[in-house]
Amino acid sequence: MITRTDLRSAATGRAPEEPFDYRTALPRADFDVEAAVPATHRILADVQERGIEAILEMSAKFDGVTLDDVRVPAEAIQRALDELDPALRAGLEESIRRLRATSTNELETDARTELGPGAVVTHRKVPMGRVGLYVPGGLAPLISSVLMNTVPAQVAGVGSIALASPPQKEFGGLPHPSILAACALLGVEEVYAVGGAQAIGMFAYGAGPCAPVDLITGPGNIWVVTAKRLVKGSVGIDSEAGPTEIAILADETADPAFVAADLISQAEHDPLAASVLVTPSETLAAEVEAELDKQVGATKHVERIRTSLSGKQSAIVLVDDLEQGLKVVDAYAAEHLEIQTVDADAWAARVRNAGAIFVGAHAPVSLGDYCAGSNHVLPTAGCACHSSGLSVRAFTKSVHVITYDRTGLAEVADHVTTMAEAEDLPGHAQAVRVRFAADAGSENQG
Ligand code: NAD
Repeated sequence: MITRTDLRSAATGRAPEEPFDYRTALPRADFDVEAAVPATHRILADVQERGIEAILEMSAKFDGVTLDDVRVPAEAIQRALDELDPALRAGLEESIRRLRATSTNELETDARTELGPGAVVTHRKVPMGRVGLYVPGGLAPLISSVLMNTVPAQVAGVGSIALASPPQKEFGGLPHPSILAACALLGVEEVYAVGGAQAIGMFAYGAGPCAPVDLITGPGNIWVVTAKRLVKGSVGIDSEAGPTEIAILADETADPAFVAADLISQAEHDPLAASVLVTPSETLAAEVEAELDKQVGATKHVERIRTSLSGKQSAIVLVDDLEQGLKVVDAYAAEHLEIQTVDADAWAARVRNAGAIFVGAHAPVSLGDYCAGSNHVLPTAGCACHSSGLSVRAFTKSVHVITYDRTGLAEVADHVTTMAEAEDLPGHAQAVRVRFAADAGSENQG
C-alpha cells in the first residue's frame, strides 16, 4: 500500500555524509498552486468586482447551496451552542484553556533599549486591528480550527474578528453546527457561511456586510491556499497551510502499531495528505507495513486513506542511521514531525525545519490537532523552512518607537552626516545639522 524509498548507501552508492539535496528524494503531493492561479484569480476578481452577488453564485456552484445572505444570524450561533453535545463541549473548553495558557505565555512584551543619555528605542507590540479567520469545512468540519485561529487572536488583543467557513447543504446553508457552537463558546459573533477562495476574497476586499481585514489566517484546500498567496500584500496572511503532512523519524525502539496509527490519522484528512516514515530499521519498516495492512481496513474513511498512503507523497524511507534521517526530515520540513527514537528529546532539539515537533511515543499528532495547547495551523509543502505555525505572534505586529532628545542626537550627529554624505544624500545630513545650526553660529562668534 505504501511505497519504500531506499536512501541507504548500499542502495544509492552515496555515503550519508556526502552533500545531497534530500528535498528531491522525497516527492510531495500534486498540489500545484501555480496551476490553480488562473481559476483562483478569476474568483477573486469576481468577488472584488461584484461582491456579495458573486459570492452567492459561487456558493451555489461549489457548495451546492442557494443563499440570499452570507452572515450567520446570532440566533443560529446561540442555538448551536445550546444543542452542543456536553462531552464535545468539555473537550472544546479544555482545548481553549490549554491554548489560552500557551498563547498568554508566548505573548511578547515591549522591548525598551536605552542607547545612551536621551536615546531610547522601544520595540512596541501592537495587535492587528481586524482579522479574517478561515475554518475549513469541505472534507471534514474542522471545529478545532475555530479554536486554533480564534484563541491566539483574542489573547493578542485583536479588536475585530470575522470568521468564515463553507456553507453546508445538510445544515440549510449554514456552517456545520459544531463550528458555530465553537464560535459561540469563544464569543465570536461575526460569522460568514462562505468557503474557498471566495471567502479569502471577501476578507481581502470586503463584500456586503464584511468589511476588509488586515490579516487572514487559517488552513484550507488548494483554492484557499492559492487565494491567500494571491491576496498577500494587500492583506497579511499567516502561512500557506495546505494539505496536511506527517513525517515520523523512528528507530527500532518505536512501537509499529503507534507509528502506523499516526500515519493513518494524517492520511485520513485528505487524499493529498502525506504520510512519511523515515527509519534506519528495516524491521520497523516491515512491522509498520504489516500494521498498516491490519489497521487501514478498520478505519471509516478507508478509500481516502488508501489513496493518500499509496500516493507518491507517502513513503517509508530507509536511511543508514538517525543522523542521515535527521538530514532527510530537516530537508523535507514537514508540517508535523514525530520523533519516536531513543533520546527523542536530543534528536528533536537538533531539528531546524518542521511546523511542529511531537516528541516521544505519547505525543501523537492527534493530540496537537485538538488538545495539546499547541496550534494545529501549520505551514505545509516545505514552507516550514521559512514560516512558523500560527500563534499569538501572528496576530501582533511591532513598531519601533524612536525617542531621542538633543543630547541623544548630538552623540551620533557626526556619524549620521558622514553616512548620509557617503550615500550622496546631503539633504539627510542637513536635516541633522539644522538642529545644531545655532550652536555652530555661537561657536564661530566665540
Ligand atoms: P476547505 O474549506 O478548505 O475548502 C472547501 C471549499 O473549497 C468549498 O467551500 C468550495 O467553495 C471550494 N471549492 C471546492 N471545489 C472547488 C472548485 N472546483 N473550484 C473552486 N473552489 C472550490 O475544505 P477542504 O476541501 O476539506 O480542505 C481542507 C484542507 O485543509 C485539507 O487539505 C486539510 O489537510 C487542510 N488542513 C491543513 C491544516 C494545516 O495547518 N496545514 C490544518 C487543518 C486542515
